[in-house]
Amino acid sequence: MKIAPRLVAWQRKHGRHGLPWQNTRDPYRVWLSEIMLQQTQVAAVLDYYQRFLSKFPTVKALAQAPADQVMAQWAGLGYYARARNLHACAKQVMGTWQGKFPPDAAGLATLPGIGPSTAAAIAAFCYGERAAILDGNVKRVLARLFAIEGDPTSRPIELQLWSQARDLVPSARTCAQDPDAMSAYTQGLMDLGATVCTRSRPQCQVCPFKKDCLAFQQGRCDELPWPRARKVLPERSTAMLIAHQAGHILLMQRPTTGIWGGLWSLPECDYELEPTMACQQLGLAAKKTEALAEFLHVFTHYRLNIRPHLVHVEQSDRTRAEKADLLPKGGEWVSIKTLHERGLPAPVRKLLDGLIAAQVLA
Ligand code: SF4
Repeated sequence: MKIAPRLVAWQRKHGRHGLPWQNTRDPYRVWLSEIMLQQTQVAAVLDYYQRFLSKFPTVKALAQAPADQVMAQWAGLGYYARARNLHACAKQVMGTWQGKFPPDAAGLATLPGIGPSTAAAIAAFCYGERAAILDGNVKRVLARLFAIEGDPTSRPIELQLWSQARDLVPSARTCAQDPDAMSAYTQGLMDLGATVCTRSRPQCQVCPFKKDCLAFQQGRCDELPWPRARKVLPERSTAMLIAHQAGHILLMQRPTTGIWGGLWSLPECDYELEPTMACQQLGLAAKKTEALAEFLHVFTHYRLNIRPHLVHVEQSDRTRAEKADLLPKGGEWVSIKTLHERGLPAPVRKLLDGLIAAQVLA
């Protein structure tokens, strides 16, 4: 099956053209959008992308920024390893590549956080390289077009999909005649997966490939691709302390590796531990503690049950802790007015915003 010429023509007529990271060959902008779009919907990325670019307009500005500022701009987008890799990648581009992104997919794939599909997308968009992409949407499209059975995230099926993806890219001759063919083709695959060959209820009637698509012909569009083998997520529990006093909240910076790495979060303690005991461990004498409603946050690998405790702290206690350097490592009393400058995990931000809106914290 040959899809490239039709896909290029379809993209030019029916695809997306007005996204802020399109119509540029600047690898910095394209790279940033590709990283943000990994496992995140376009609608969620739009604001973040613009804000991130206005804060860090060049790869140099990003490389020179403190990690804290980068995390603050990323906070809420999730999958924080992406932000840490983004920062590491910018530093590597400045240090090893003299401020210029590598000129091909193979070089791009050596940078932190850039996998083969992302490298190919950047190379196709910026350099017109004939490199195949294979993200989640493309896997779905190919699994349907060729009626490929099996879990598309499993290694053998993934290899089969990669091989199909490579066979389908526009020919060298096409690319020589039409230098924008690779860009339109790559964008076309993304657009087809996002707008026509969607996960549920694909719009086969308007699909340019309905005559060739094996899943459509066999009436198996709902069945393909096979769903990923489901794992039951383990559940963990933790308690968080919202220690506050006179417009300040005690935050702790998390270690750079692991969940919410490098972000600012609330002090945590054992789920069962009495909050007054937890306060003592932090060097705080609580005036009063109050249990708030528990809630669940779902990560890709586990579910976290969070039990928040509101802790009213004596002023003298806060000042004493600050002066005597009694705060645990990474702890800081942060003014509620400057909370927006800190990178907070999304559920913590939501919890604190709710308490601020209800004037429980002021
Ligand atoms: Fe997807 Fe339907 Fe097009 Fe096949 S015909 S590629 S299932 S939209």
